[in-house]
Amino acid sequence: MICPYCAKDNDKVVDSRASESGYAIRRRRVCLECNGRFSTIEKIEGFLPTVIKKNGTKEPFVPSKLKTSLEIACSKRPVSNQLLTDIVSCVENDIMQRYRQEITSNEIGEYVMKRLYEADKVAYVRFASVYKDFTDPESFAQEVAKFAGNEDPGKADEQWGADDSANDKEGNE
Ligand SMILES: [Zn+2]
Repeated sequence: MICPYCAKDNDKVVDSRASESGYAIRRRRVCLECNGRFSTIEKIEGFLPTVIKKNGTKEPFVPSKLKTSLEIACSKRPVSNQLLTDIVSCVENDIMQRYRQEITSNEIGEYVMKRLYEADKVAYVRFASVYKDFTDPESFAQEVAKFAGNEDPGKADEQWGADDSANDKEGNE
């Protein structure tokens, strides 16, 4: 294994630990060149964790599927393909590093929305409106407020107003 600190290939395994699920093994390694410590995760090739959907059904976590839904949300938006790839691999790594065998679609959605919100507000709204299945403007506004934090509401309005498709959600009197 190449050391992430000095890039030399001379390490020793100091500890191996199986995950709770038994589907992954984490090895603590020490670099004999620079003494840097790092971990590797060994998992079954092709093994995919299970996503538990809102209605309780389960399906395998397929990174390419998540990528596709991100691409749809970000089409014609100034969001780089690299960022989308990055978001997907972050989700994947997070699942693997916590040795998770199961993850809820809610957890994935929250993480993705947070990243999209930072990158592009319109892409965020598109993804959120599909993902959250918003049926009423109120719950939508609540969700937006949650991510907007302390931002001035007037400023947020301007951002949503920048894209015509976002106005479909307006229904207040
Ligand atoms: Zn090293």
